[in-house]
Amino acid sequence: MKTIENFLKYNKEWAAQISKDNPEYFENLAKGQMPDLLWIGCSDSRVPAEIITGAQPGEMFIHRNIANQVIATDFNCQSVLQYAVNVLKVKHIVVCGHYGCGGVNAALNKQSTDLVITNKWLIHIKNTYRLHQEKIDSFQTKEERIDRLIEFNVIEQVHALSHTSIIQKAWDTQNGPEIHGWVYGIDDGLINGLITIKPGDAIEPIYEYEPKG
Ligand SMILES: [Zn+2]
Repeated sequence: MKTIENFLKYNKEWAAQISKDNPEYFENLAKGQMPDLLWIGCSDSRVPAEIITGAQPGEMFIHRNIANQVIATDFNCQSVLQYAVNVLKVKHIVVCGHYGCGGVNAALNKQSTDLVITNKWLIHIKNTYRLHQEKIDSFQTKEERIDRLIEFNVIEQVHALSHTSIIQKAWDTQNGPEIHGWVYGIDDGLINGLITIKPGDAIEPIYEYEPKG
């Protein structure tokens, strides 16, 4: 197991190596960022966004939480979204879940008496399960049911993004961003694309903002 000192030692060596290879690297990065992509992923330590996609510093704006959720009352995620769309003007948003997600697995079990805050966060996944219960329960094994809920959860978050005023306004005025739902396989390292929605795609009418005037 690595110690804190190990991490700091690595950092010194890493910074020295990069500065040696490219003396202007950090100076250029410090000038500012204009990433094309917002990544909304799970906090799971096995799904590092930059490593699995080859993204370099400056290429990806990142928000992660347990089970990659987009909750309308979560100011953390919503403010990341607003900044990414309105200021950085990202062209793509990726919601990336992963097979073997402990958060989704936990949501299919009874609520833990010790994790009262986490329960509240996972309640949204339980709601997604109830929404698709018939389809999910038609699968034989628990593993298959968890996998399907992991996929439905990602798709729900993609739609949840399209329900925000931030996205609907950007679709009207910026002709973007496209929103993608992916699931990453921890056991094979591969990304499975599930859904992409883009400007002009239908939004469930009850989630549409009324036109002004
Ligand atoms: Zn997870």
